[in-house]
Amino acid sequence: MTEDARTALESERARVRDQLAGLEREFASSVEAARNANADDEHDPEGATLAFERQHVAAHIGRVVDRLREIETALTRLDEGSYGICQRCGRQIPAGRLAARPSAATCVGCASPV
Ligand SMILES: [Zn+2]
Repeated sequence: MTEDARTALESERARVRDQLAGLEREFASSVEAARNANADDEHDPEGATLAFERQHVAAHIGRVVDRLREIETALTRLDEGSYGICQRCGRQIPAGRLAARPSAATCVGCASPV
């Protein structure tokens, strides 16, 4: 069970890291594109589109970084022996939930908004 979780988390971490690397390349190239566009004219429609795209990619990077952190935390908890315990209420997280989301840090009850 624990080893299955570790395998799942490690493959998920590799996948998320690849995704992050791709997004960072995308972000770098959009910064480069903005530099090449006429950056002085803020009313330039192309400039506005590029800025919007950049914000979009930046927001996406933020979410992927959060996801990566969640996975790293789950792996640390696996090492410490607290994996599978809800971080909020201290109860065991159901195996079905961990199978669906190995990085889950809380039980369904604690994760869902009131
Ligand atoms: Zn809980």
